[in-house]
Amino acid sequence: MIFGRTMGTTYSVKVVTAGFQGIAGVKEKIDRRLAEINRSLSTYQPDSEISRFNRLKEVGRQFIISNDFFQVMRAGQNIHRLSGGAWDGTVNPLVDLWGFGRRGRQDKVPPNSEIAALLPDIGFANIDVVNPGFLVKKRAAVTVDLSSIAKGYGVDEVAALLRNLGYKDYLVEIGGEIFAAGQRQDNTRWRIGINRPRADAAFDAVYKVVELRNQGFATSGDYRNFFEVDGVRYSHVIDPRTGFPVSNGVVSASIITGDCTMADGLATAVLVMGVQKGLELIDRLDGVEGLIVVEQKNGTLVDYHSKGFEVIN
Ligand code: FAD
Repeated sequence: MIFGRTMGTTYSVKVVTAGFQGIAGVKEKIDRRLAEINRSLSTYQPDSEISRFNRLKEVGRQFIISNDFFQVMRAGQNIHRLSGGAWDGTVNPLVDLWGFGRRGRQDKVPPNSEIAALLPDIGFANIDVVNPGFLVKKRAAVTVDLSSIAKGYGVDEVAALLRNLGYKDYLVEIGGEIFAAGQRQDNTRWRIGINRPRADAAFDAVYKVVELRNQGFATSGDYRNFFEVDGVRYSHVIDPRTGFPVSNGVVSASIITGDCTMADGLATAVLVMGVQKGLELIDRLDGVEGLIVVEQKNGTLVDYHSKGFEVIN
């Protein structure tokens, strides 16, 4: 078992070794790769590519980017399009305004005028993502934060690293986002627990269990990071089209699909879209399955899932 820290959270990697295969030196390789991704995508590092891009206040100027940044922006563009703008990596000024960003908690509802003032600069389409690898701002003030998709990308890149080293059976996890390849030591499928989506639930309280095989898995939830005013809950997941935190009753959305980047981004998108539109999107996409949990007014949890989403408990 390999453990470490990255992206402000923890990671863990389980590798099933065969014969004389060992894992000597693998942790160092993983840490090097994750440090490289952070140098590109971390808004917590002032000299990262993404931080330098966010500081650029020029319209039309080409900003050359690395392949990592390019791949995640491309994935973001795709999820932004598929979700009708529900997923939007330029939403961070609103996340900050609502007190969920680096400006720190305020636990109060900002004035409508301040929300309205930010909306014109929110919109992933305000950035051109151009082959072979540069970005162009169409509005000087637009910024990008890939917190809701880059952990998934980190998971996929660690999985690719293990695959290239010849391992077949492994489980990679960063902050709860997961990719499972092959099978466990006992030749059964990898099993993943979905956290009970309640603010008072323990971090290891299991709500549902799913099996994964060569699939990515991610959950986005609003039950950990929120504040309440007059009994109304305001969470860190924002609808970029209104500027307000989502309030559609969805407390968690879990996605299973071929890669973890897509699963991570889609989980946030579905949480914003709500049950009906979220399930329609999931059903429209090949190889994507999802579970959406809604908390009813009386506190009861109700599950909505796509046809192929199988829980084993
Ligand atoms: P998710 O549900 O996956 O995503 C929620 C996040 O997405 C929100 O926090 C918000 O930023 C954003 N968001 C909200 N609404 C939308 C929307 N409609 N569309 C798209 N995005 C939206 N944290 C630290 O404390 N220290 C660090 O050094 C640090 N480094 C990081 C480096 C990288 C490369 C990344 C990707 C993240 C880093 N983080 C760091 C952030 C930390 O990992 C986050 O808390 C985490 O990414 C949020 O994940 P989540 O599972 O809580 O939320």
